Amino acid sequence: MRQRFCKVCREWHETDAWPLECYPVASKGQSDRLPIPYFISDTTEPIQHPIDQKFYTSKSTFEKITRDAGYETVGNDPARLRPAPKPKADRAAIKQSVEKAIARYNNGERV
Ligand SMILES: [Zn+2]
Repeated sequence: MRQRFCKVCREWHETDAWPLECYPVASKGQSDRLPIPYFISDTTEPIQHPIDQKFYTSKSTFEKITRDAGYETVGNDPARLRPAPKPKADRAAIKQSVEKAIARYNNGERV
């Protein structure tokens, strides 16, 4: 006997007896709140802004405060934190350089 909160009717239901009419049927790209496809609402659940510690329900106001304070919103893609791959050493150039130095030394050159 486990209950979960239903986002469809805002009531609690048994998980093993979930009402058919309460299965979410949002199609791809459809807002879960609005029955309009491809409509992205500016409204969101209250989010606390790390700059002023206030709560906002407008995504655009949240973004404006971020930008006005000189910051930018970035994603959480872990690839962004990975160090850039180092260029491979040009082993042929190193070998040539060392051989030149040995040849100059063997010719009696001392700097
Ligand atoms: Zn329900």
